[in-house]
Amino acid sequence: RAKSAGGNRFELADAEADARAITRHGLTTALPTALERGEFFIEYQPLVHLGDGSVRGAEALVRWLHPQHGVLGPDRFIPLAEHTGLIVPLGRWVLEQSVRQAREWRELHGGAEAVGPLRINVNLSPCQLTHPGLVQDTVDILERTGIEPNALCLEVTESALIGADDDLLKPLRRLAEMGVDIALDDFGTGYSNLANLRRLPVSILKLDRSFTQSMQQFPADPVDLKIVEGIVSLAHSLDLAVTVEGVETGAQAEQLRMMGCDTAQGWYYARPGPPERLHELALVDATG
Ligand code: C2E
Ligand code: MG
Ligand code: MG
Ligand code: MG
Repeated sequence: RAKSAGGNRFELADAEADARAITRHGLTTALPTALERGEFFIEYQPLVHLGDGSVRGAEALVRWLHPQHGVLGPDRFIPLAEHTGLIVPLGRWVLEQSVRQAREWRELHGGAEAVGPLRINVNLSPCQLTHPGLVQDTVDILERTGIEPNALCLEVTESALIGADDDLLKPLRRLAEMGVDIALDDFGTGYSNLANLRRLPVSILKLDRSFTQSMQQFPADPVDLKIVEGIVSLAHSLDLAVTVEGVETGAQAEQLRMMGCDTAQGWYYARPGPPERLHELALVDATG
């Protein structure tokens, strides 16, 4: 009935849905060979200390250089990789590459002793959390690379931990006890249960980009500002550091700094890019 009423509009929508399904299917079947063929690569986006503007580390963001479709962002293929289980070997690959990259930076980057070695943030899918090999894989990678656990931060989205029981938290606790930092990613987008925070083995809150975006308006929504201030003060009282995502202007950076946020990430500082770029940024920073 909807079809006859809507005419071409619905047929077009169907055709688009079909095309999307075909691409999705094609991408899904191409995923395993893509990993074998080395079609994935990682871009790094700096994490900047708001107090002094120094580069303290980077977040690793995976991309797929698809032979026909060009560069695909993670939103296009991570859900498919999660669905098929490829996320486990893919995630392990991202972790190993990123940790190796962090070691290379610190070898190149002796001059920055004052701010400590560059740290590396790696995103974890909920599927990796429930995979029994997570802790051992991480230990093995850190040992093979010879980097200390506190150079690594694993980012887990708030939604992945909603209602998390002890079994799900156990591997994260083990990693946290070893000295790996756990960050709660995209914080503020889910059903944030602030009281729940105490239960989680996290040491960093990553405030979602939507908060930073709402500051774009001028004057910014005073209620949003109050909410950010409240989150920052709660986080600090629980001994959590606050990182803000999606900082696109100097005015936002300044406002977030005044509100007490610790670290920032966003296009204002740099877009995600190749590892050499991060090294250059950190070096300029260290030598003034
Ligand atoms: P995320 O972890 O929240 O990463 C931040 C996203 O915000 C990145 O998108 C980054 O490019 C984008 N971004 C950074 N600064 C700005 C800014 O100033 N403005 C705007 N508009 N955007 C900014 P990207 O690279 O497309 O990644 C999207 C999501 O894909 C990530 O969100 C993360 O959840 C997921 N992801 C990326 N790499 C991996 C990975 O290796 N494993 C897993 N499981 N997920 C990953
Ligand atoms: Mg992240
Ligand atoms: Mg995030
Ligand atoms: Mg986000």
